[in-house]
Amino acid sequence: MSIHTPRKKARIRLDDDVSSAKTRPVNSLQKQREQLPIARGREALIREIQENDTTILLGETGSGKTTQVPQYILESGIAGKGMIAVTQPRRVAATSLAARVAEEKNVSVGGLVGYSVRFDEASSSDTRIKYVSDGMLVRELLSDQLLSKYSVIVVDEAHERTLRTDFLIANLKTIQTARNKVGDVSRKGKGPASALNPLKLIIMSATLDAEKFSKFYNNARILYVKGRQHPVQIFHTSVSQTDYVDAALRTFFQIHTDRPPGDVLIFLPGQEDIESLDKSIKMYARRLPEERMTVLTCPMYAALPPAQQSRIFSSAPTNARKCILATNIAETSITIPGIKYVIDTGKCKEKRYLSKDTGGGFDTLLTRDITKSSAMQRAGRAGREGPGFCFRLYTEDAFNSMALSAEPEIRRCSLTQSVLQLKCLGQDFEAVDFMDPPEIGSVISALKTLWLLGALDNSKTLTTLGRQMASFPVEPYFARIILASKTHGCTSEVIDIVSLLSSSSALFLDISDQRDTISEVRGKFRHASGDHMTMLNALRSYQEVAASDSKGARKEWCRQHFVNERTFVEATKIRDQLRQTCQRVGIDWHASTADNEEPVLRCFVTGLVQQSAFLQPDGTYKQTMGHSVIKIHPGSTLCDKKLPAIIYDELVYTSQIYARGVSSVPKSFFSNVTPVAREA
Ligand code: ADP
Ligand code: MG
Repeated sequence: MSIHTPRKKARIRLDDDVSSAKTRPVNSLQKQREQLPIARGREALIREIQENDTTILLGETGSGKTTQVPQYILESGIAGKGMIAVTQPRRVAATSLAARVAEEKNVSVGGLVGYSVRFDEASSSDTRIKYVSDGMLVRELLSDQLLSKYSVIVVDEAHERTLRTDFLIANLKTIQTARNKVGDVSRKGKGPASALNPLKLIIMSATLDAEKFSKFYNNARILYVKGRQHPVQIFHTSVSQTDYVDAALRTFFQIHTDRPPGDVLIFLPGQEDIESLDKSIKMYARRLPEERMTVLTCPMYAALPPAQQSRIFSSAPTNARKCILATNIAETSITIPGIKYVIDTGKCKEKRYLSKDTGGGFDTLLTRDITKSSAMQRAGRAGREGPGFCFRLYTEDAFNSMALSAEPEIRRCSLTQSVLQLKCLGQDFEAVDFMDPPEIGSVISALKTLWLLGALDNSKTLTTLGRQMASFPVEPYFARIILASKTHGCTSEVIDIVSLLSSSSALFLDISDQRDTISEVRGKFRHASGDHMTMLNALRSYQEVAASDSKGARKEWCRQHFVNERTFVEATKIRDQLRQTCQRVGIDWHASTADNEEPVLRCFVTGLVQQSAFLQPDGTYKQTMGHSVIKIHPGSTLCDKKLPAIIYDELVYTSQIYARGVSSVPKSFFSNVTPVAREA
């Protein structure tokens, strides 16, 4: 239960002796804090952090790392006058953890404790602990290369090895050396006095890879905090399941009818499966006899609005069983109390770069099998408060053949944005000391994309356009579209569309068995050129309804037209930020061409130049910059149309390769988008 150091190989054990760790009822947040496993190691931890520049903290999920360590640092004065940043790979985790810690400190979010994630920020001059997405800290780096306002940076969930976390881990090492050197010199009175505090780093991880982080940071000390883990009984299926959503449904009702009270956590790959299972569970639960326990479902995924997120932490009413449907966010970043049963579908979504040979050229989300490490984490969630059960919807053989842990994102995702960001910092990707170096092919591909977008010149040097692109909080190709709008005078329209596309959920609901109805009700905003202008028309109609009608009427309008109101709301926030960035780089965002499609589509061609396809004589579409034959997605307004040239937002891989978010453009538009036209 205490922090001890160093420990060679820490293992997740589901059968640890927990006799000393009985959970007692707690009545206050302070008591809860004191009872967390990490609390006993508080003094030792503070001492270690005080004495060392870098500390690696390894601890089982739920032991209190993320919520407590930043508070200990603040309370002990280690941070001096500087701020403490805590990075998170997922924005939902950053916002929800900030809310929790603010509550523990009895302050409101945005004061002493705040957060900053893409398109959303709650912080002020009083903020001392800031939960940030790893991407946001990378952005801050672009405007402050030494991250001077922070005196402590906690890199959390380092085991997830996201591209941005790896980017930070590499850069923080250099920053720390630079800052601590300046600090040393000025402390010894040999150099100019510097206002810079030395930088303390804490790398936190829930899984085994601590040795690797330690090696990277010159053999930094590894501290280990043991969690509170009760035995978990694991069941596998005897045969493999083809439909994991259906298998999860059946397993849930088996638990619900046969087993004693206790909440259920179901791991699913993504939002669509969560929504579909949520619907089925609710439907079957209504048919249960009245005297049975009721079922309270709580979805949890990245795009869930904050108000609904807090529901997963509140306890279910008596005589109700809570059923949480979550993505791998509930694996290590968020600990939900009350879970006794875990249902593990064995699937997750993973971002993967599809090379041009396989039809891609950019990242796409693919559903795939999880790793052993994930499977063990998932099972562990059932044993936090007492003995638990984990029902794996896959066979024991399938478990045994799973990869040990996931490949770091740097080895499998598009590097375009990171290469651009490093260029802005005056570094070349090839020269950076990463924990795991990227494949040279991905670096070349990123350089090529940036050159096509005009961010780099022929000698791989950053252009003014490239620097401007990096200042937008969106993917480089979206930034390129916005920057092109300066020439075409349609910034207002372009920003409106890019905001909708950057939102975390799709605007148009696509329900495959209702496509005819949907197409009919949406007829009034359909634009002949395709999905981009159709989105803009939908936004205009919504703005009219929103200006004159009540909230209820607005909701009803969205329901009738199968559009996601949340997307409109989120897009407004994004739009405001994009407008601000435009202002900073000298673009007048008011510029409008009264929704005329030609200039707008010209801008989109500039950014989506790699996401385009031409019609072939045999009636299929072939990518202009790849080798794949693609089809227009059935949910698109242009489905089944034969058009000379199309651009698209993304490709969806099912039995075929489908282009989604499609617009038809004259081939001539490609001729002045520089290098590409010459190649295509
Ligand atoms: P770790 O980072 O070691 O996995 P955390 O610090 O995230 O652990 O969690 C410590 C405890 O705080 C857990 O018991 C968890 O249930 C609780 N907790 C975290 N966030 C919230 C929240 N938003 N609401 C209620 N409890 C929370
Ligand atoms: Mg944590």
